[in-house]
Parts: sequence; C-alpha cells; structure tokens
Amino acid sequence: MKKDHDLSTRCVHAGEARDAEGSPHTPIYNTTTFGFRSTADLLDVVEGRREGNLYTRYGMNPTIKSVEAKLASLENAESALVFASGMAAEAALFFAHGRKGIVCLGNAYGGTLSLLADQLPLVGIPTYLLFGEETGKLEEILKKRPGLVFFETPTNPTMEIFDIRDICRLSHSYGALVAIDNTFASPVNQQVLSLGADIAVHSATKYLGGHSDLTGGALMGSKELIEPVVPWRKNLGQMMAPEIAALLSRSLRTLPIRVERQNRTAQAVAEAMSEHPKIARVLYPGLPDFPQHELAKSQMSGFGGMLTLEIAGSGEDATKVIDALELFIIAPSLGGPESLATQPMTTTHHGLTPEERRKRGITDSMIRFSIGMEAAKDLIEDLRNALECKRSF
Ligand code: PLP
Repeated sequence: MKKDHDLSTRCVHAGEARDAEGSPHTPIYNTTTFGFRSTADLLDVVEGRREGNLYTRYGMNPTIKSVEAKLASLENAESALVFASGMAAEAALFFAHGRKGIVCLGNAYGGTLSLLADQLPLVGIPTYLLFGEETGKLEEILKKRPGLVFFETPTNPTMEIFDIRDICRLSHSYGALVAIDNTFASPVNQQVLSLGADIAVHSATKYLGGHSDLTGGALMGSKELIEPVVPWRKNLGQMMAPEIAALLSRSLRTLPIRVERQNRTAQAVAEAMSEHPKIARVLYPGLPDFPQHELAKSQMSGFGGMLTLEIAGSGEDATKVIDALELFIIAPSLGGPESLATQPMTTTHHGLTPEERRKRGITDSMIRFSIGMEAAKDLIEDLRNALECKRSF
C-alpha cells in the first residue's frame, strides 16, 4: 500500500491481509489464543524475536492488527491501537502520557470532562480544564509542565474551532504532547497529525464505525508514542473484540463516501436553518458567517455532519421542538446513517452543573444534530415542521 494513495484507496486496501483462500479482506480470527508447535516457537513470539499472534487481549490477533494498520494509514500515522470504546482509548492515553498533568481546552464530550475532573485527580493526576475563552491561560499552565494538552475541534456541542497549528507550537515549546479528539471531523475532514498534533484520538463508535452498531475507540501516532500505551490497554483489559474489529474494517472501506455525503447534507440543513425565524443561532463551521469559518477552512477540508441549533426560546421550547421531530431520532451519539437530535443538557452534558454549562456556552435551548444519510430536503422539512410543532402522528 503506497503512502501517496488517496485516502479513499487506503480506506479500502490498507491493512487488508489477503489470505491463502483469496478473501479480499482480512478474515475474522475469532479466537482468544494462538497455538505453537513448540515452547521454543512460543518463546520466540513472547520474547519478541519473531512477530506473531499470541493472545487477543494483548492485541496479538491478525484481525486486530489489520484494522490498526488501516486506522494508522487514515491518520497518516506510523501506529494505531484499537480499544473497546472511545473512553477506553482516552483513559489509556491519559495514563500513558498524562501522568504529569493534562490540560483540556474548551468543551469536550461530557464523559471526557468527568474523567478529567472527577476520576483522574483521585489517582493523583493533575488536570486543568480551561473554557474556550480561557485559551490565553494555556501558556501559564504549560509552565507547570503538564505532559499532555488535549482538545476536540470542532468541540462538542458548541462547534468551537481551535487553531491546531498554534496550540501545537505553543505546547511543544513547553515539552507537552498534544492529543486531539478527531471524532467529530473524522480523518476525511481533518488530518490532525499533519497539522502538528502528536496523537489522534477517536471514538470509533461514531463516524469510523458509521452505522450505530459498534462501540470502539482508537489512538493513532508515532510508534514511539503509541508503544507506551500498549501495556495500559493490555493490563486494564480494554481490547476490542475481533468481530468488532472486522466490523470496523468493513465500515472504514466506505468512510469517505459517507462523510462527504454527511458534509453536504449538514451544510444544506445549516443554510436552511440559518434563515428560519425560530432559530436564534446555527453553529456550523461551514457557514460563511460562523465566527471561526476562516480558521475552520484553514485546517479542515470538509465541515462535518454535526451542527447545533439554538432555538429562539427556552429550554422547554427546545424540548417541544425535539419531541416534535419525526425523522430525527432523539438520542445521544453521532456519525451513523440515522439523523439524531439531542439536547446536550439532557444527555452529553447532563452531568455538568447549570453553572458549568453556562460557562461553557451550552444553553438549555441548544439542540445538537448528527446528520445521517437521509435526503437533505426530508430532514429540512422535518425540522421546519417540528419548529411549527406539527407532528403527523
Ligand atoms: N469523544 C467524543 C467527541 C464523543 O462524542 C464520545 C462519545 O459520545 C467519546 C469521545 C467517547 O466515546 P465512546 O462512547 O465510544 O466511549
């Protein structure tokens, strides 16, 4: 597989093992362990003299290695690791590279914020959570020499964009690594390692899996940075099952066509909603009047399938709108074929206090949408009807 092949070509071919039976893709090695002809043979693998398979929880399974090679290729990384969930990937990353301290910039997924604010300090890991407008304080915190700077861009759910190049330059000058949760954009829309980040983080549950039928996570980066994560994944027991790895590989083959379609539909929905009198704000980086549109253009090749609408009204009004939707399903999560709608205050950011939500710019009247594979015109019609609170059943 050539490195200069287009992303769509790599999505299909990278990492696939053509076996002796002629399968065009890696078969599922649905096994927990691998047998050896002799003890000497086993020791060669255990002691690293020979590459081989040994035990699935260690990641030493051809189906796991195959999807990891594909994922590494998609983020232009040397190595990748898969995990049982996005949170498992984040936890292993934080233990491996964040023990000296972790700075989290801006809004992130509620689970990430809770891990950083509530659990990691219990085991002695210092964490610093900065709101978006406090990015100016990053340098002050970097002087305390934390090991890791972590952020999402676009962020969840306010769609704020961080300047990846600038933050990486500053963090690196203080010796901190930068890990970016690239879940919202996907490698199709944003290549975080090429922009300067050290590690790409994904909830594979979302666009990478893309069908709302698998839970997984991934980290991509240089061999030097990914290897120290391996023992954490192994001993915390965070491995993805081989069947899920094969399902993820299946999904990755169509990632670009899915994401490109979702980009186009989200743009159309955002444009239609920006003219609607009952919408106070449309948060979508692809709109020319989005405050950070130029920055988004400078680091994203597409603007993604996620958008947030602020209803002109109260939180109860937003609940009425969401309850009146017919095509959109009321659910957290994102990246699948079904369009989803969620009020962050009831799901992804329910765990935050109203004051924390206010500081993060998350209002009660916000609804976050994950645009799926339906036709843009049908989704727009559903939204317009819901805004009029018309429901046909
Ligand atoms: N990162 C982002 C941006 C997310 O939206 C989520 C989940 O919603 C996660 C990470 C955690 O992923 P998972 O649910 O696969 O553990």
